[in-house]
Amino acid sequence: MRITDRVHALRIPFSLPVGPGKTLERFVYAYIILGKEICLIDSGVSGSAEIIFDYLRSLKREPDELKLNVLTHAHPDHIGGAREIRKLAHCLTAAHPDAAPWIEDTERQFAERPVPGFRTIVGGPVKIETLLRGGDTVGLGEGYSLEVIDTPGHARGHIALYCRREGALFSGDAVPAPGSLPIYEDAVESMRSIRTIQSIRPLSVLLSSWDEPRTAGIQDMLAKAAGFLQKIHSAVLNEMAAAPSAGADELAPAVLRRLGIPEYLLNPVLVRSVRAHMDASAFRNLEKIRVAG
Ligand SMILES: [Zn+2]
Repeated sequence: MRITDRVHALRIPFSLPVGPGKTLERFVYAYIILGKEICLIDSGVSGSAEIIFDYLRSLKREPDELKLNVLTHAHPDHIGGAREIRKLAHCLTAAHPDAAPWIEDTERQFAERPVPGFRTIVGGPVKIETLLRGGDTVGLGEGYSLEVIDTPGHARGHIALYCRREGALFSGDAVPAPGSLPIYEDAVESMRSIRTIQSIRPLSVLLSSWDEPRTAGIQDMLAKAAGFLQKIHSAVLNEMAAAPSAGADELAPAVLRRLGIPEYLLNPVLVRSVRAHMDASAFRNLEKIRVAG
């Protein structure tokens, strides 16, 4: 899907097993930035290479024109296709130093964060040749570049990429989806990352991994995401008050009920989100958090 002349979005569907006989249909976006050389942001799941390369060919471009694959973070649906893409396009793969260990050692990631269906959606480890940190700039040629913005919280070493000339932000999973499964490691950092994104100007295109590309209502959507984070925070604080000695595992089902999220979706990743709010219980109102500095 064409977003601008340079920026194209690819919606990559996949299924996750979430219980006996139950699968969750999901999708993730990967983004292509066209120039003399091509840059790919995220890589989708295992098998995405074919979708991405077919799309490039439909634009009369060849896979070996793809020179750089930037991974916003280490989660399976973002890195799953990277190994195959690297192998076929011979591109460089880039990520934040804190994300690299889980990308270069996917078995370690699975041991530390056992997402259902991990081995189905991850095509194996890939070496990170280019390390990117907040404040770095990635030149794309012809006056185009990507500014790297640290947006941790959802995942360690999560980065967003900002193309100033297009006013376009590739936000990965930094902005939680209002009403959807809350997934993050650090609730305070997650709110701070939303605040950082809210402060970016111009912000005329928001390109998230889980949401349709947005060119209108961006600030409204970001405000809703911050409100959703606070809603979960309040739910966790209320459950903590009702059962002060309970752990995250015990509180998680009640928190999901409060949020209207079906309990069969409960898994260790969601328990971790609940724990992230318990760790941030010194804050009553996360929405008061502002951009650092
Ligand atoms: Zn993620």
